[in-house]
Amino acid sequence: MFEVLPQLAPDPILGLSAAFKQDTNPNKIDLGVGVYKDEQGNTPILSAVAKAQTILLEREKSKTYITPQGVQGFIDGMLGLILGEKSPVLMADRVAAVQAPGGCGSLRILAELLTRVNKDTKVWISDPTWANHIPLMGNAGLSLETYPYFDKATASIRFDAMMDTLRKVEKGDVVLLHGCCHNPTGADLTKEQWQQVVEVAKEREFLPFVDLAYQGFGDGLEEDAYGVRLLCENLPEVIIAASCSKNFGLYRERVGLAAIVTADSATKKIAQAQIQSVARGMYSMPPSYGGALVDIILSDVALKQEWETEVNEMRNRMSTLRSLLVEKLTANGAQKDFSFVNNQKGMFSFLCITPEQVQKMRNEHSVYFVDSSRVNVAGISQANIDDLAKAMVAVINS
Ligand code: PMP
Repeated sequence: MFEVLPQLAPDPILGLSAAFKQDTNPNKIDLGVGVYKDEQGNTPILSAVAKAQTILLEREKSKTYITPQGVQGFIDGMLGLILGEKSPVLMADRVAAVQAPGGCGSLRILAELLTRVNKDTKVWISDPTWANHIPLMGNAGLSLETYPYFDKATASIRFDAMMDTLRKVEKGDVVLLHGCCHNPTGADLTKEQWQQVVEVAKEREFLPFVDLAYQGFGDGLEEDAYGVRLLCENLPEVIIAASCSKNFGLYRERVGLAAIVTADSATKKIAQAQIQSVARGMYSMPPSYGGALVDIILSDVALKQEWETEVNEMRNRMSTLRSLLVEKLTANGAQKDFSFVNNQKGMFSFLCITPEQVQKMRNEHSVYFVDSSRVNVAGISQANIDDLAKAMVAVINS
């Protein structure tokens, strides 16, 4: 029966990884897939996570089902991390939340919840955005619209155009915002711009939906929560999908949090039961393991400190690589000003070069990244940065 289905085009990122593997150039560079890599090109288990695994192995005495909302300590720890320990919405008992299978799982169940509110809900996503936002929202049946976000020509946020669009968004619509470290552009809103988003959300009465997949990778764990906290403290309702894939390095364990800030505590109870019922109908309950590890880390002062140090190391490594790359591009005589790369945050940067130039990087210099010109900054290292800068200058100046 499945022959009736169309053959799908291969996933461009997976195609890129396959092409990278086949390339026999010993100096090839992979800046494609979005996972953090260390100086040696590995994605190691964080030491705080390794210690938590040992503790969990001792502590866990049963593999019986957990509850549909997931590990409660995980939920409490994550809400503190995202909203702040003294968050007014937490104090007011206005936050429903469940553990979910990764940021993707969180996005998907929240999308499903939105269809329960209104199956015709419109979700506004940034242009450009992370490609998977489209199926995660769209497959739930939501209709998608875009708001302008980034201008490649000037390598900056099109904030005025974004605001013009947000001023037309209707009551009950949803606006998906990247909490920090915008994927794919690396361009984040300033504090003043977040304030303006709050104002327009109040005025238009739309629902902000914050995707927080890189907390700690931009300016710091607290700093990266600025936008989401501002929204939660100033608006009656906000929804949040957070991921522990990057900042805890728990990619394959599928750990995320779906949170719903409601207007009052009575509505929180409704939202809590509804989101659990959505999860029950899709996968019943989340996998426990990764959530249990995060719970152990966040509830132990020393382990939490160790984890924060590791997050800081990852962030600092990426930000050092950004400035080093800009420096080396200038030193090699690049005819384009790449200083904007220094202002971008997190794991990704848009290099703002053309798809033809990206293909030249791949075909002539064995440097692999997607045609949009998004690079994974963590794929750069002291060992490959000179080759990378030379290849870029050769392509850009030609
Ligand atoms: N949102 C964004 C913007 C992302 O980049 C990612 C990961 N690439 C996710 C959500 C979800 O990540 P995961 O499901 O692996 O936790």
